[in-house]
Amino acid sequence: MGDMGDTFGAMRQDSQRRRIKNLDSSTKLLIEKGIKFESKNNGIHLIVEDFDFYPSTGLFKNRKTGKKGRGVFSLIKQIQKCKSCNGRGYGYGYSEYGIATIRVACPQCDGEGITRTKK
Ligand SMILES: [Zn+2]
Repeated sequence: MGDMGDTFGAMRQDSQRRRIKNLDSSTKLLIEKGIKFESKNNGIHLIVEDFDFYPSTGLFKNRKTGKKGRGVFSLIKQIQKCKSCNGRGYGYGYSEYGIATIRVACPQCDGEGITRTKK
């Protein structure tokens, strides 16, 4: 029985370590990207713009829309989403004859769909 306890204890420790590592790397990434956030509960809960973000699990939730997501990269994408084209990278304009609407690359983000972080 003692062996079983040890195994579970080790597993628990392992997942805890992974969470701490996640928390660390996700938080570091936000800082590197120059994204501002408010830290709550010793960094377990971060408030990043409209999102509640839990860096140890990678879960985030938009406070306004309630939309949930997972992963720091996905979060960064949402935050840096170009507001002008809503992250699509393009908008619609008229063709030169004014007959059909055509896709045009968004001038705000050069078709990338994300706002560039200025250095
Ligand atoms: Zn754009």
